[in-house]
Amino acid sequence: MQGCAFVDGEFVAPEHAKISIFDWGFLHSDATYDVAHVWDGKFFRLDDHLDRFEASLRALRLDPGVSRQRMREVMHECVRRAGLREAYVEVLCTRGRPAPGSRDPRSCTNTFMAFAIPFVWIADPAKQRRGIDLVVGTPQRIPPSSVDPRIKNYHWMDFVMGLFQAYERGGETVVLTDGQGHVTEGPGFNVFAVFGGAADLQAARVVTPVAGVLEGVSRRTVIEMAAAAGCTVEQRLLDVDELRRADEIFLSTTGGGVIPISHLDGVPVAGRKPGDFGPVSALLQARYWALHEDPRYVEAVQGLPAAR
Ligand SMILES: *Cc1c(COP(=O)(O)O)cnc(C)c1O
Repeated sequence: MQGCAFVDGEFVAPEHAKISIFDWGFLHSDATYDVAHVWDGKFFRLDDHLDRFEASLRALRLDPGVSRQRMREVMHECVRRAGLREAYVEVLCTRGRPAPGSRDPRSCTNTFMAFAIPFVWIADPAKQRRGIDLVVGTPQRIPPSSVDPRIKNYHWMDFVMGLFQAYERGGETVVLTDGQGHVTEGPGFNVFAVFGGAADLQAARVVTPVAGVLEGVSRRTVIEMAAAAGCTVEQRLLDVDELRRADEIFLSTTGGGVIPISHLDGVPVAGRKPGDFGPVSALLQARYWALHEDPRYVEAVQGLPAAR
C-alpha cells in the first residue's frame, strides 16, 4: 500500500503503522480524528480541518501532546514522503492506555497519529456520473445527547449495520434518521435536498439538516457556494418525507465533494433520467472543484515535486 504514517513520533510505512490492542481508541472507540484531502498537490481548507480537530480534542479532553503547527507539519510530511499528489490525510488522537490496573480515563496517555494514503472516494467519478442509490436505513443515528456528532468519531455501528441493509436492498450507501423522521447523515457525508431552481437557480432552496450531524467542511463549502450563487440556504430539520419530494439530492464529503444521488430507496429522484441530476447539483459540483484552484482555500504540500 502506498502511503506514509506517523506513529509514536516517527514516520513509518503503512504496514508498520500499528497500535496496542490495549489502546482505548481500539477497545472503546475512545478517539477523535479528522480527514483532509490533497488535490493536485495542494491541501484543501486545511485550517478548517485543524480547527475542527482541535475543537474535537478539547471536547473529549484529549491532549495530543503536539502543537497545531506540528500537526500541520506532520500532515505535510506524510504526503511528501508518500509522494502523493491526490491524498486522503487523516489525523487522529486516541485515549491511549490507562495506568496498569486502572479504569480511570485521566490516567491514560493520549496518543497522536497521522497518515496519508491515496485519495479515497465515497463514490468515484464514474459512479458520480451515474449517481448514487441512497437507502434510508432503519438504525437510528446515535442521539447527540449520547455522542455529540459534531465531534468526528468512530461510533459507526449504526452506519455499518445501515450499510449492510443498504447493500441488501440494492443500494450503495445509507442515510440514517434521528428516530423521529428527520434526516441526519450517512457514513462520512452530509445530505442536501434541493427544491426548485430548474428555471432560475436563484429560486432554488438548498436544505440541509441542522441537528444530529457533523458540520462537514464540504457541507460548509456547499453552503457558501450555494449562497454565493444566489440560492436560499436553509439549515433546519429535514423530514424523510420531504427528502422524497426533493427535486435534487446530493451528498457532501471530503471523499469526493458534491456527489449526486440518482435514487432514494430505489425510486429515481424527482423521476429524473439516469445521469441527469439537476442544475443546482451540477453547478455546485463544478464550483467545488474550481475552488481547488483558489489560493484562499488551498496550500501547496511542502517539498512535493512539481507535477510532471
Ligand atoms: C467526515 C464526516 C462527514 C463529512 O465531513 P467533511 O468534513 O465534509 O468530510 C459527515 N458526516 C460524518 C459522520 C463524517 O464522519
